[in-house]
Amino acid sequence: ITAIELTEAYISAIDAANERLNAYVKVTPDLARVMARKSDERIAAGTAGELEGIPLGIKDLFATVGVHTQACSHILDGFEPRYESTVTQNLWDDGAVMLGKLNMDEFAMGSSNETSYYGPVINPWRAEGSNQQLVPGGSSGGSAAAVAAHLCAGATATDTGGSIRQPAAFTGTVGIKPTYGRCSRWGTVAFASSLDQAGPIARDVRDAAILLKSMASVDAKDTTSVDLPVPDYEAVLGQSLKGMKIGIPNEYRVDGMPEEIETLWRQGIAWLKDAGADIVDISLPHTKYALPAYYIVAPAEASSNLARYDGVRYGLRVDGKDIVDMYEKTRAAGFGKEVKRRIMIGTYVLSAGYYDAYYIRAQKVRTLIKRDFELAFDAGVDAILTPATPSSAFGVADENLAADPVKMYLNDIFTVTVNMAGLPGIAVPAGLDQKGLPLGLQLIGKAFDEETLFKTAYVIE
Ligand code: GLN
Repeated sequence: ITAIELTEAYISAIDAANERLNAYVKVTPDLARVMARKSDERIAAGTAGELEGIPLGIKDLFATVGVHTQACSHILDGFEPRYESTVTQNLWDDGAVMLGKLNMDEFAMGSSNETSYYGPVINPWRAEGSNQQLVPGGSSGGSAAAVAAHLCAGATATDTGGSIRQPAAFTGTVGIKPTYGRCSRWGTVAFASSLDQAGPIARDVRDAAILLKSMASVDAKDTTSVDLPVPDYEAVLGQSLKGMKIGIPNEYRVDGMPEEIETLWRQGIAWLKDAGADIVDISLPHTKYALPAYYIVAPAEASSNLARYDGVRYGLRVDGKDIVDMYEKTRAAGFGKEVKRRIMIGTYVLSAGYYDAYYIRAQKVRTLIKRDFELAFDAGVDAILTPATPSSAFGVADENLAADPVKMYLNDIFTVTVNMAGLPGIAVPAGLDQKGLPLGLQLIGKAFDEETLFKTAYVIE
């Protein structure tokens, strides 16, 4: 098959399904065709790259030259970057083809893709015997749904507190959040800069390994990107797990966890044991503080990052009687409810009277969480196995969740610790629940040891 044939097939698939799923907010068929034709030329000339002609979807958080980049927010209406994010540039340099921009929660704030200005994404999965529409998870809901529904061969995504791993788990796909610093954040719209990382969502572990290799790089434009060689992740797939130590953290047995998540976890443990790994119980005692601390640190950084949307430099402007009035009207009209909630929490915890009580304390908790992991790894643990999410995909417009944002935040209970500690985490499909919906397991690794995660996840999938 040629690159142009493959690209046309994906464009037709998008045409047929996107109205129903709302995974893409912008499809770029003309650009895709130009890129695919160039791919075919390079293939003919014998100069093909590692991803030559592979059609990908791009989360709307990545800046793409000349193509609307709005983080699915109204406030970035019509914004067309004149620069390309490093991650997407790396993919194009390896020959990949862009199909379009994928839906997401506004500014990546959410766990269900329902905070998008462009409306919810519909999960291609349905519970057995039911027609109820389910969410694909968030914030990378468009990425996960598009991969699951074959509307792209793979997708870029980002993860600040779980936004790659939770949607992957809800759609039966593979998602990896690499170590903080593995992928450049340059050209990716910032949410919480000390937590944000890009990574792929793919149909299987091998595809995720190939995509991450291309996306990762050190970059002078992001001083937090790390100058380490990017290994050939694909090469470790199929290697034995003999002698590996897998830690099972007691603290992840949370109250009210459904029995089938427990069963899945036990199943995962059994698979890894069969593959030759040693299973050890470990303790990560500060786990219970991770979620409250995350919901202080992330909004604090977000409130600062979002200060730049003032109606002057990007996107939307609503005129006012003077400049302050213009700022206020623009921000009132441009940001959605969840984003406003985060800005208010963030400015509150950063304000003079509360800074020590909330922000500083959350940062201290963060250090303790990091230390928990360090102690486990120092004791010889190679990777940690947990469930990826506390449930399978839930319904669109769930009344319980809409009424109580904290309940929505609880979705991140197994994933946020990994961002707080800056470690890599992968979500891998591990089975179906009683309703026939996908469930995922999560593996957490040492800093910059994504290879162990790929190798171990390959045994589970
Ligand atoms: N659901 C979490 C939040 O809303 C994580 C989002 C993310 O990882 N971008 O903050």
